[in-house]
Parts: sequence; structure tokens; C-alpha cells
Amino acid sequence: MKNIKNFIDGKLVDPISKQYIENIEPATGKVYGNLPDSKKEDVGVAVDAAKAAFSVWSKWPVQKRSDVLMKWADLIDANKAEFIEAESRDNGKPMKLAAHVDIPRASANLRFFATAIIHYASESHKMDDVAINYTLRAPIGVAACISPWNLPLYLFTWKIAPALAAGNTVVAKPSELTPMTAFLLSKLANEAGLPSGTFNIVHGYGHHVGQAMTEHPDVGVVSFTGGTETGKKIASTIAPMFKKYSLELGGKNPNIIFSDADLEDAVKTSVHSSFANQGQICLCGSRIFVQSEVYDQFVEQFVSRVRRLQIGDPEDDATQVGALVSKAHLEKVEGYIQLAKEEGGTILFGGQRPIVAGRCADGYFLTPTVIVDLDPYCRTNTEEIFGPVVTITPFETEEEVLAYANGTPYGLSATVWTDNLKRGHRVAEFLKMGIVWLNCWLVRDLRTPFGGMKQSGVGREGGLEALRFFTEPKNVCVKY
Ligand code: NAP
Repeated sequence: MKNIKNFIDGKLVDPISKQYIENIEPATGKVYGNLPDSKKEDVGVAVDAAKAAFSVWSKWPVQKRSDVLMKWADLIDANKAEFIEAESRDNGKPMKLAAHVDIPRASANLRFFATAIIHYASESHKMDDVAINYTLRAPIGVAACISPWNLPLYLFTWKIAPALAAGNTVVAKPSELTPMTAFLLSKLANEAGLPSGTFNIVHGYGHHVGQAMTEHPDVGVVSFTGGTETGKKIASTIAPMFKKYSLELGGKNPNIIFSDADLEDAVKTSVHSSFANQGQICLCGSRIFVQSEVYDQFVEQFVSRVRRLQIGDPEDDATQVGALVSKAHLEKVEGYIQLAKEEGGTILFGGQRPIVAGRCADGYFLTPTVIVDLDPYCRTNTEEIFGPVVTITPFETEEEVLAYANGTPYGLSATVWTDNLKRGHRVAEFLKMGIVWLNCWLVRDLRTPFGGMKQSGVGREGGLEALRFFTEPKNVCVKY
């Protein structure tokens, strides 16, 4: 059994209540450990520690903070085999994916913000011969960082790295479904050189720990990634307290294929953008729109590739599709497949639980599912499913597909396939999304603003946006 502890004030500790939550391996459906079922009292102790550490950490020279974060990144790399195995086991994702994406990106996040803070500069504004203004940017204090289960360490470090680099101290909570790699990271914090209390993790349920973190009067800034409903709840707690917050929420991303696109590339990448991480990436393109001239061709080639995807044990090197994160989530996704049928959809492929032999026989697997014949504005096409399910819909004109693409409450990302450069730029401009990929998907430059419009979020992460978010600007005006 693998047992997890909280990390508070530089020490691994049990929850005050001594109550625990079972940790289940999604690929087997079996309990393989437990984690603290922490409560408000644990959050209180962690916030006190973070508050005390702020006066130390925020005054450290920037270079010294940077060195510590760089060392932490090195320690992830030095222990990468353990991190990769843990991420795959906790989440159900193929180990190969954790090895190529999740874990390298976690250390890259730490390095990115460790170096970005060294080059960070604030603005000055000269007023002719009257005065000069300069902007001071100070860390805020205790930052609450709350992350989801789909890319556990990747998104956890994406938050804590800029918060710490900017000089804040942190109380963090990973999803209770995938706490293991955050726990492993906490075990390396002292060796990296983080002063006690600078970084704390309180494990447990969102409605206990997450809620207590956002409500705590000594938490000055909240960075959250998760579902839109949770985001609404958090915003309603924080807004009257006038804390700073950033919300990275759900999506229902369109993937638009014009008839002049490189079809082979579009098909190949679309299979990946539909089913990578079992479709559980907020940026996955779950609504595919194909111009009618190439619709039949696209559908045939797409289904033929999906048919060949290898579903199986995440530990197996050949596996491309692993398990969904939990039984409850599997059932939610299956509920949407049933809804699609009721809404008149035709299941072209998938939609069932596959038979996975051996140790994974009771795992939470679902065959990648391709659905056609749905109205572009039906519930299946406008609500977030967040699983291995895509719909394909034909369109005739640019105007029509823009209306479909923008026709949901979400606005996170979009992918557009066309060889017409002018059209590509035009469509990108009219899409109400925070991120648009032209002829590619998930190509990420960490300097760019990351986040969504409409119900996909508030604020942006990444690059300077993140460092600005975790600091409070102050204008100083000096008369000549
Ligand atoms: P979630 O249920 O909203 O949970 C996210 C985190 O919030 C978890 O740690 C959760 O703890 C915690 N939480 C729950 N209730 C809370 C409360 N009242 N106060 C504070 N924290 C609370 O989301 P999820 O199911 O883990 O993740 C999937 C969702 O995340 C999808 O909608 C996906 O689109 C979105 N996502 C968005 C992005 C982006 O960048 N926009 C990236 C990745 C994922 P528990 O685990 O204990 O509930």
C-alpha cells in the first residue's frame, strides 16, 4: 500500500482527524493506497506556516529563489522513473504518455519560471518633462493553488512555479483522485532548499480542503484549474472577499477542417487531439467540423485510424489509450454516449467497455467513440464530456462553421485546418477562443498567454501573464 501524507511547514504529516481516503488505480479498479482526508483545521495550520514563511521567502534574492526551483526541477528528472510510474498508476494514462509529456513538462515548468523571474522587469512611464512613473510588482502573500486530475503534476507545477518564483508562499491541493506525484514532489522540497512553510500541500476533497483554502482570510490569491461548475462556486466565495483569482475551466473545443487542408495531416493529428489521454485534456478537440467536399473521405480515414488505436494496460509500451480516471467519470461519459443516441446520433465506432485481459480486467476502460448525425447545437455537442468521445459534423461555408464553433458557452481552444493562409488568419480572429492552432494541435510555447474566454475561464496563465498574476502592481509617480 502506498500511503500519502500532507506536507506542512517542511514536514510530512498525518491529517489532524487521522481520516484517510482510498486511492484507487483506475486501470485495475483496485485500492492501492490512501491519502489524507484533510479538513479546514489542516488548511489553517498550512496557511499559518505559509504566512510565517512569506517574510523569509519573499525577501530572498531572486537568483537564490531561482536556484532552488532549478534544483527541484533537477530532482524531478533524477527521479523521473518513479514519477512516471506514479503518474500513470494514479491516473490511468499510458506510461509512455507520462514519460513523454507529463513528467518532462513538470520539470520544464519549474525551470521556465525559475529563469523567467530573473528576466522579469516592470514598466516605467515618462510624462514629458513632468514626472516619471515606475511600477513596483510585489508578491501577494499566501497563494492557494488548486489543480485537477487530468494532467496532475503538469498542471500542479504550472501553478506553483510562477507563484513561488514571484516570491509568494503556497498552499496547494492536487485532485484527490491523483495525489501521488504532488506527494513525491513534496518529498523533494527540503532537499531542493525550499525554506520550511514556503510550499505546503494539504490533500483531501475539494469541498473540504479546496473550499477552506479559498475561504481563508490569509490567502491573498487563488489559482484554480478544473471544471466550470467548481469555478463558479470558487468565484462566488472569493469575489466578495476581493481576492485575486485566475480560473482555468472547461471547454468544448472545435476542430475545423476545410476542404483545402492537408487531409492526411488533419486526420492523423485529429485522432491524437480527440483521444490523447483518453480525451481528458481540456484542449482536446471534441467537436470535429469537416467541409462537405471532404467529409466522407475524412470520416473514412479517421475511423480507420481510430480502429487501430491500442487500448490496454497503461504499463504496456504499445498502449495508446489507457483507463479513464474513475468509475464515476467512466459512467458520466457513458451517460453522454447514451444521450447522443437519444439525440439521434449514430455511433460509427466505439462506445463500449473493451475487454482488457489480465490485471486490468476491472479497469475503467472505454473504446474511443466516434459519433455522427447530431445537430451542432444539441447537448452532446455543447456540453463538456471530457472523455474519449468525438462528434463529426459536416459544414458548407466559413460563416456557418464559425457559428457552430462559437455556439457553446465555452471558449477555450480551437484547431483550424486549411492551406489558405488568409482564411486561416481570418477564422482565427473570429473564433471566440483563448487559443487557436492553425494546422497543428497542442504545440505549446510557455511564453504565450494560456486560458479561455466565456465560461472557459477568467485570466491567463503562462509566461509574463502568470508572473503578473502572482504579483500586485503599485505605481510610483516621481515629479521632476
Ligand atoms: P473539478 O472537479 O472542478 O476539480 C478541480 C479541483 O478543484 C480538484 O482538486 C477538486 O478537488 C477541487 N475542488 C472541488 N470542489 C472545490 C471547491 N468547492 N473549492 C475549491 N476546490 C474544489 O475538476 P476535475 O474533474 O478535477 O477536472 C476536470 C475539469 O478540469 C474539466 O472540466 C476540464 O476541462 C478542466 N480543465 C481545465 C483546464 C484549463 O486549463 N482550462 C485544464 C485541465 C482541466 P476534488 O478532486 O477533491 O474534487
